Amino acid sequence: MSDRLLTPVDPPIPLCVPDVSGNEWHYVKECLDTAWVSSVGAYVDRFEQMLAERVGCQHAVATVNGTAALHTALLVAGVEPDDEVLVSALSFIAPANAVRYAGAWPVFIDAEEHFWQMDPQCVADFLEQQCESVHGVLLNRRTRRRVRAIIPVHILGHSVNLTPILELAKRFGLVVIEDATEGLGATYAGQPLGSIGDIGCYSFNGNKMITTGGGGMLVTNREDWAEKARYLTTQAKDDPVEYVHGAVGFNYRLTNIQAAMGCAQLEQLDSYLQVKRQIAAKYSAKLSAVQGLTPMPGPDYGDSAWWLYTMLVDAEQFGMDRKSLMQKLAEIKIQTRPLWQPLHLSPAYPGSQLVGGGVAEGLNSKALSLPCSVGLQKEQLDQVVDCIAACGKH
Ligand SMILES: *Cc1c(COP(=O)(O)O)cnc(C)c1O
Repeated sequence: MSDRLLTPVDPPIPLCVPDVSGNEWHYVKECLDTAWVSSVGAYVDRFEQMLAERVGCQHAVATVNGTAALHTALLVAGVEPDDEVLVSALSFIAPANAVRYAGAWPVFIDAEEHFWQMDPQCVADFLEQQCESVHGVLLNRRTRRRVRAIIPVHILGHSVNLTPILELAKRFGLVVIEDATEGLGATYAGQPLGSIGDIGCYSFNGNKMITTGGGGMLVTNREDWAEKARYLTTQAKDDPVEYVHGAVGFNYRLTNIQAAMGCAQLEQLDSYLQVKRQIAAKYSAKLSAVQGLTPMPGPDYGDSAWWLYTMLVDAEQFGMDRKSLMQKLAEIKIQTRPLWQPLHLSPAYPGSQLVGGGVAEGLNSKALSLPCSVGLQKEQLDQVVDCIAACGKH
C-alpha cells in the first residue's frame, strides 16, 4: 500500500450531492414573491406536465415523496390488505414499506447477476411453480394469499429486463408498478423507465437523478387511475366547499415551492445524464485496470442513467474487502456506500419469502458505490481511483 496517496483529500468528496445551478432560485423566488407556496400552484401543474411529457405518459400526479407515490400506486392498482406484491430483494426499502402501508406483504425476488436487477427467471419460477389459480384468483400456495402486483425496482440507474416480467404479469393478471426513481432518464429498449408498466413512480429526494429537496411523482396512461391517485393524495375530497370526504385519503401533495425546483431540475436532466454517463465511462476504464475490481456492467437492453456508479471488490484479488476499503476511503474523506442489505434479511421483514437466493447477498458483500455527483471534477475522479488503487495489492 502506498501511503503517500492515503492522506485526506481536501475538500472532502461526497458520494452524490445535487447540482442546483439552473433556474431553481428564479422559480422558487417567484413562488415566494407571489405567495403561491403551498400545495396548489402553477408549478405543481407544470412539473407534472413536464415529467409526463419527458417520460411519454399521459398523466402524472406529484406526491410529497417517492414512498408516498408507491403507496398511492398500490392503492389505485387495487392492492388490498393481505395481498402479496413481488418486490426486488436488492433495493432501497421504500417499495417494500409501501406494500406494508397498503396492508399487503412483499415477496422478495432475487437479483440476476448480469446487471443486478430483479431476476425475471425468479418471477417466472414463483408464478409458475409456487402459485395456483383458484376460481380465477392467483394464490401463493405457501401463504394462501392473493398475488396482485409486481414492483420491479430499477436500481442504480439501470433498467430491469422488463419484457419477460411484463409477459408474466399479463399471463397471470398482475399489475406492474415500476419504481423508476434511480432510472429517471434511462431507457429500456428505447422506452423511458417508468412509462412501460401500468404505473411508474419516482422520488426527488436529495441524492436522486433530480431533486426537489423531497418529493415524488407517479405516472400512468390510465386516466381513471390518475384521477384516483389525485383524489387519494388530496384527502379524498368529494366536496371541497362543504368538506365532504368520500374515503380516508392522504395528505400526500407536493408544494408549489418544491415543484418550482423540480421544473428547474428537470430542465437540466439531459445535461445531468450526459455527465453521469461520462463519469461512469471514466471510472469503468480506469477501474478495470485495477486487479480485483469489477466495474458495474452497463445493460445491453437499454441506456442507463448511471445514477450511482458502483463496482465489485474481490477481497482476495484486490487485497482488501469492501468494508475495509470503505473505511479506508472514509478516513481520507472520500465518501462511498455499500448496496442495501437485501430486504429478505432486513430485521424489518422477519420471516419474509425470498424467491431465488444468493445473488443479492453476494452483490451486497462486494459492491461499493463511488462518488458520482454531477459536479465531480475530473481531478477528483482521478483522485478517487488513485486512492482506491493505492489500497489494493498490486
Ligand atoms: C429513494 C428511493 C425511494 C424513496 O423515495 P423517498 O422520496 O425518499 O420516499 C424509493 N425507491 C427507490 C428505488 C429509491 O431509490
